[in-house]
Amino acid sequence: MKCYDAIVVGLGGMGSATIANLAARNARVLGIEQFTPAHSRGSSHGQSRIIRQSYFEHPNYVPLLIRAYELWRNLELETGLDLMTLTGGLMIGPPDCQTVQGSLASAVQHSLPHELLTAAQIRDRFPAFNPPLGTVGLYETNAGYLRPELCIQAHLSQATKSNAELHFGERVIDWQPSSSGKTAIVRTEHNTYETPSLVLSPGAWAPSLFRFELPLVVVRQVLFWIKPTSGTANFLPGRFPVYIWETLDGTQFYGFPQHGPESDGIKVAVFYNEEPCDPNRLSLTISPTLERQIRECLTTRIPSLTGAIVKTVPCMYTNTPDHHFILGKHPVYPSVTIASPCSGHGFKFCSVVGEILADLAMDGHTQHSIEMFSPVRESLQ
Ligand SMILES: Cc1cc2nc3c(=O)[nH]c(=O)nc-3n(C[C@H](O)[C@H](O)[C@H](O)COP(=O)(O)OP(=O)(O)OC[C@H]3O[C@@H](n4cnc5c(N)ncnc54)[C@H](O)[C@@H]3O)c2cc1C
Repeated sequence: MKCYDAIVVGLGGMGSATIANLAARNARVLGIEQFTPAHSRGSSHGQSRIIRQSYFEHPNYVPLLIRAYELWRNLELETGLDLMTLTGGLMIGPPDCQTVQGSLASAVQHSLPHELLTAAQIRDRFPAFNPPLGTVGLYETNAGYLRPELCIQAHLSQATKSNAELHFGERVIDWQPSSSGKTAIVRTEHNTYETPSLVLSPGAWAPSLFRFELPLVVVRQVLFWIKPTSGTANFLPGRFPVYIWETLDGTQFYGFPQHGPESDGIKVAVFYNEEPCDPNRLSLTISPTLERQIRECLTTRIPSLTGAIVKTVPCMYTNTPDHHFILGKHPVYPSVTIASPCSGHGFKFCSVVGEILADLAMDGHTQHSIEMFSPVRESLQ
């Protein structure tokens, strides 16, 4: 049986960053992925992911975000790839909503540069938006988007350069502790491997691989690309930021400026849709209800974004009840580290999560503050 210093299962957003980090520390590492590099059957595809700092989810994320930005920029320098584009970001909604108030709390607590805009100012600066009277927006210049497929490829190429062994098209069937309890034995369709340090970053497949009861719910989320009916120039970066818009009933929808060919349209989606799914049977069908929901979000708020739907792409979130991540040592098997940094907002953190998981795998601890993501926290009981 072949033995490695560390094995990473799942080379998507998080696993690719982790294996790059581990390999850079001169560890003898193996990465195992059931599909191809940067595939579109998990959670890390669809051309773009929002990255932002005034984080409405909780101010504790901000220090991790600052480090994530630094690491993304380092990765760009090392690979020469264009991974992150800052377009500015607008968190918009009624004045007392979580999207605005939560962003403001993070911005104030961490002294992040930001502006508060009224509905008229938003309309003036970003003419495609038509916010109802009373709406406000927190604008930050440090927001934008990442190119997820390219980010994964960049991390994988860094890992290969540092001599990591990467196996694609190889599914892990199961793993178990060895009889001594000091190592884990990983069984795939093709082979069996042993390691004193196993990292599980299997995305939507986490419930079947963690060997630990967690209240995770895997849901399907659909991305839409829609044609503007007029004013296409108003959707270009500079006139159109990335945004998350909360409506009066608490629905959040979000989108991006045009970042592909004009014929592709503009990307938009609803943040949280509870449509539980089986990751092995991800449906491509778009129900009329989903289409109606996104149309309802856009009709009055971005009135020129009401043309034909050019493309739809399904993707998966792995949600925890409190929508915070799971990152830490396995509560039963100390040789195993588990990671489910998703709940629909994890991609921007991949670079720093890679660093954290490599710390946990090699040293058993990290300097980053991750208590909030404990696999045994109260909200998961
Ligand atoms: C529609 C959508 C929009 C999003 N928007 C944003 C956004 O704007 N900003 C943001 O920050 N985040 C966003 N997210 C969330 C973010 O993309 C995820 O948090 C992140 O991609 C999760 O990465 P992961 O590595 O956990 O999962 P994945 O990238 O899916 O990686 C898991 C990998 O494990 C592999 N695997 C699983 N089981 C096995 C096995 N048994 N054997 C071998 N390999 C296995 C899978 O094939 C997969 O490649 C969005 C997600 C979706 C779906």
